Amino acid sequence: FVVLLLNINLCSYFSHASPDSANSSSHDLASPLKGLKLNGSFDFSNTSVVAYDFGNRFHFLPLAVLLPKTVSDISTTIKYVFDLANNSELTVTARGHGHSLQGQSQNNGGIVISMESLEEQKMYIQTGDLPYVDVSGGELWINILHETVKQGLTPKSWTDYLYLSVGGTLSNAGISGQAFRYGPQINNVYQLEVVTGKGDIVNCSEKENADLFYGVLGGLGQLGIITKARISLEPAPKLVKWIRVLYSNFKLFTKDQEQLISLNNTFDYIQGFVMTGLSSNFSRKNPLQAGPPSRSEGKILYCLEVAKYFNPEDTNTTNQFTENILSSLNYIPHTIFQTDVPYVDFLDRVHLSDLKLKEKDLANVTQPWLIVLVPKSSIQSFAKEVFGNILANTSYNPILIYPFNQSSWKHNTSMVTPAEDIIYLAAFLTSAPSSSSGPDGLDNILTINKRILDFCETAKLGVKQYLPFYETQGEWRAHFGDRWEVFAQRKSTFDPLSILAPGQRIFSRGP
Ligand code: FAD
Repeated sequence: FVVLLLNINLCSYFSHASPDSANSSSHDLASPLKGLKLNGSFDFSNTSVVAYDFGNRFHFLPLAVLLPKTVSDISTTIKYVFDLANNSELTVTARGHGHSLQGQSQNNGGIVISMESLEEQKMYIQTGDLPYVDVSGGELWINILHETVKQGLTPKSWTDYLYLSVGGTLSNAGISGQAFRYGPQINNVYQLEVVTGKGDIVNCSEKENADLFYGVLGGLGQLGIITKARISLEPAPKLVKWIRVLYSNFKLFTKDQEQLISLNNTFDYIQGFVMTGLSSNFSRKNPLQAGPPSRSEGKILYCLEVAKYFNPEDTNTTNQFTENILSSLNYIPHTIFQTDVPYVDFLDRVHLSDLKLKEKDLANVTQPWLIVLVPKSSIQSFAKEVFGNILANTSYNPILIYPFNQSSWKHNTSMVTPAEDIIYLAAFLTSAPSSSSGPDGLDNILTINKRILDFCETAKLGVKQYLPFYETQGEWRAHFGDRWEVFAQRKSTFDPLSILAPGQRIFSRGP
């Protein structure tokens, strides 16, 4: 998501983790696990390495970390836990890159599977008419980018930050500025291999075991562990024309965003963000150097961010194209910032800008992010109250806001979105120093987040949370709405004992 990424120095954090608690009967539970025949192994000592996440607010110590080498290691472990039936409360959580925000990839006293240890599937790229890449569920998107571009190919839909695992983003959706055209990452998967909550290894696609396939996509890790994924590819461009223009009027900003996503011949990436003032280091020549927007006189500006992919031989036509399309927009004159950058640098932009911030000790920062999906019909009321009132005189940055059209998305996945065709993603990606009890402190930010959610609720804006966080099943039922029954039915079919991903706090382990 991030215009500015706050990077936790994870290595230094490991040694400082102070997990909440571990299961008291951990010794009894550990012995039989040691007896399982695996290609990989269990680690019972360094469990604190998985008792953190990017959000840095929850720290749960598991009993053991499974370092699987093969898919059968995962299946064997889950089968063992499943066979314990109601004689145990043991649960299992897949952990991708641990970039959850509220403990979703942690497990208090259970087993965490370190998906990055999985050695199957080695990355395989199929070229030809319908290119795809087969990857492990633990693979990071940054590695997929680097390998596929070597063959002149690339996945179509991305997240803003690429140091996330395939299984982790497919369990949510995977949304960025390409989603208006291709849908989120869950829309761009041909098939999956999944280990269910019974330990079965199942291949699934739209044609084969479709209920599991759709259920796992956006399924918050509840129905199975994604061990392999086949992801669709397209030809990779070499360069990207990366453009930002500014607006002071929210209506014009959203009008232009909506016009751009409706055109057939348009940009390849369309996003936007809210600025409470221009940063002094916001370079006209190189947006890679754009720093965090700073507050200035309480004035709000909106930044439309777009990109056009191209190859060097098409430079002139691309310049002409962007000139034409920009001339139809309503941004403030003379506020165009543009540059041409290599495709890989563009996609990895958050990491590159992050490197410049590395000196900061970000282990001492929490990330109380709030991300909501707002229907088009509510976006003006949402902006008026949230930007004009709730966030007036605060330093909430960065805030992303951009629309996409859901009409071509797969509709029977587990992802929950507002009912309208065009919806906006509004992401409040603020961070809070752990030591602060002032306006920038965690408590205050959480209060503001709650005010935003309460307003959406009372004004009946039809908003849904993305990367949802709830603590009771009642709240989850409300989140899923009329799709709860299908989700709960799929859960009882594929994970009947509710063994998987208890960190989402949706279902409780049961017989
Ligand atoms: P983890 O935190 O390890 O796991 C997340 C959940 O998925 C857990 O419930 C876990 O059990 C489950 N899970 C993990 N692996 C598997 C698997 N193989 N099979 C089944 N379940 C599994 N999201 C966007 O859509 N767009 C963005 O642009 C974006 N940018 C982000 C930038 C940053 C800096 C951060 C911290 C997050 C961002 N996210 C974004 C959110 C991100 O997509 C999710 O938090 C994602 O789950 C993180 O992936 P991970 O590999 O770290 O998952």
